[in-house]
Amino acid sequence: MVQILSGKAVAQKLKQDITVEIDILKSKGVIPTLGIVLVGDEEDSLSYANSAKKRCETLGAGCNIFKFPAGINQDDLEKKILELNENRDIHGYIIMKPLPSQINEKRIAEIIDPAKDIDCMTPKNIAKVFAGDNTGFSPCTARAVMEILNFYQIPIEGKRAVIIGRSMVVGRPLSMMLLKQNATVTICHTRTRDLAKEAKRADILIAAAGKAEMVTKDMVSPGTVVIDVGINFKDGRMVGDVLYEEVEKLASAITPVPGGVGSVTTMVLLKQLVETCRK
Ligand code: NAD
Repeated sequence: MVQILSGKAVAQKLKQDITVEIDILKSKGVIPTLGIVLVGDEEDSLSYANSAKKRCETLGAGCNIFKFPAGINQDDLEKKILELNENRDIHGYIIMKPLPSQINEKRIAEIIDPAKDIDCMTPKNIAKVFAGDNTGFSPCTARAVMEILNFYQIPIEGKRAVIIGRSMVVGRPLSMMLLKQNATVTICHTRTRDLAKEAKRADILIAAAGKAEMVTKDMVSPGTVVIDVGINFKDGRMVGDVLYEEVEKLASAITPVPGGVGSVTTMVLLKQLVETCRK
């Protein structure tokens, strides 16, 4: 019988821990407050920001959305970021992507204060993830995957983990986090020669390619733990990168979409907000 790795249960546990931490911080006169930088009127970003604000408020944290026009130039946006670094009322902030084409994202990432960089955009925090140093922050989605594996006590040490996707927000940092827990890690991507063969070798298979239902039964060995990071829309419904109906019959455990990794990601952001406050 396949084990469903519900993200909601993980999020619930994180929520309890975060609420305790927020109460402690509040008793010391600190209200942990998240900043969200929004450039332009992109609907998805706006709705993410509004729902993150609501979630903060439910937990007793603060949230300020800093909205700038789509036509803002590099210098002005950099000034705003430097102001956020100095703003003592904002403990951590994230910058919604994509940024407009006139903005050099790399230069923006370089000036974020690493102590407020709770979604791990700065070179300093990224380097820490790659060095196996836990003193910085991790990209929230990659950490959400680790939170799920650890919550359900999925053995990682010595296991063969195969990740499909090598982005800087999911695949690559996740490979380092799994390596830190002593997995043997393979990263697959669009140029991988025999993806099905690589995937079939996995004890833990993580799909983070952004391709609807691309992981089929031919790519999964019986007993595999399958983590689906993908969020795609197909025929008007949300689906992952895994063809769930097929793969759940083979997997020993699997995350659903929706209700899997995505449910944990925002809680991880708030956990990192509280962590930076404590520091
Ligand atoms: P991305 O497009 O930046 O990277 C995708 C990676 O997958 C690339 O490295 C590419 O080489 C690889 N890839 C693409 N097609 C492939 C194929 N056919 N075979 C092998 N490799 C392939 O995407 P991303 O930002 O890393 O996001 C990946 C997925 O995760 C998306 O569906 C995204 O919506 C989702 N996501 C979910 C959350 C969450 O909270 N659950 C957060 C961020 C991203």
